[in-house]
Amino acid sequence: VPLSEFDLIDRYFTSSTGPRDDVVLGIGDDCAVLRVPDQRELAVTIDTLVAGVHFAADAEPEWIGHKALAVGLSDLAAMGAEPAWATLALTLPQAEPAWLGAFSRGFSELALAHRVQLVGGDTTRGPLAVSVQVHGLLRAGAAMRRGGGAPGDLVYVTGTLGDAGLALLAEQGLYVRDGCLGGLREQLHRPSPRVAEGLLLASVASACIDVSDGLAADLGHLLRASACGATLYLERVPCSEAVRDYVAETGDWSVPLAAGDDYELCFTVPEEKQAVLENLALDFSVPVTWIGLLEPQKGLRCCQADGRQLAAVPSGYDHFAGGD
Ligand SMILES: [Mg+2]
Repeated sequence: VPLSEFDLIDRYFTSSTGPRDDVVLGIGDDCAVLRVPDQRELAVTIDTLVAGVHFAADAEPEWIGHKALAVGLSDLAAMGAEPAWATLALTLPQAEPAWLGAFSRGFSELALAHRVQLVGGDTTRGPLAVSVQVHGLLRAGAAMRRGGGAPGDLVYVTGTLGDAGLALLAEQGLYVRDGCLGGLREQLHRPSPRVAEGLLLASVASACIDVSDGLAADLGHLLRASACGATLYLERVPCSEAVRDYVAETGDWSVPLAAGDDYELCFTVPEEKQAVLENLALDFSVPVTWIGLLEPQKGLRCCQADGRQLAAVPSGYDHFAGGD
């Protein structure tokens, strides 16, 4: 029996997240009505995940639900915003209860963990695609931007880079390894947005971006916005043992620098705030690593352990670049 749109929303999403007391009206009316506190600003972002582009059509629905929300939370983290509300637009070939139940579980678990309430949505019949808009709260004027970096600032990154990229290569059968790449799949399918870290960083970082399309591309956005360049010290780029082995075997830096889907934060800190940052970072759930320096000379230079520069910096994934 096909479910109507109303049944879908009601059955799977109405009470799966929240409740927050700043939601005046949630799911069920023509609009949600939300209360933004005085002296706060709203940070808003939307992401769409399309089957066959961002995930396999037969991927675990629980992972899709998790990731659809996680990518938006990662953007809020990059601004130093505190997550509050989300809306969801779901395009489905058919309404399959088992799929919807698992999707909703993945979405709701992450939403509850970050005190996000789903306040509205839309369902449509069509090829599988998921759009999630998230809303976060900022102290007025306190948003971390991409454009605040200056020459002399130190470049940092949270966590490790390349785990999701290597997991994808392994899933595609392009990298075959004895032993366990299983732990990396968690990073690919169930990334942990660095929300708590972003909130703390807002007081010390001069600029910040989340690493979704690969460090080289996303740091490149930060550099252009900040009107400067940078040198990265490759031996300092934090990698798991598996990624380190892969780079050592292949000489290919594109996994940690350009594969994307890391959802870590890349940020810059003025030198005089380095001690404050490193003290703050003791409370983080992931390490932060100093990986480079902002410089007046535009562009991104990657310095290898022997002091020589990488001839070509691997670039990130661009959906509209065409080609292969
Ligand atoms: Mg982003």
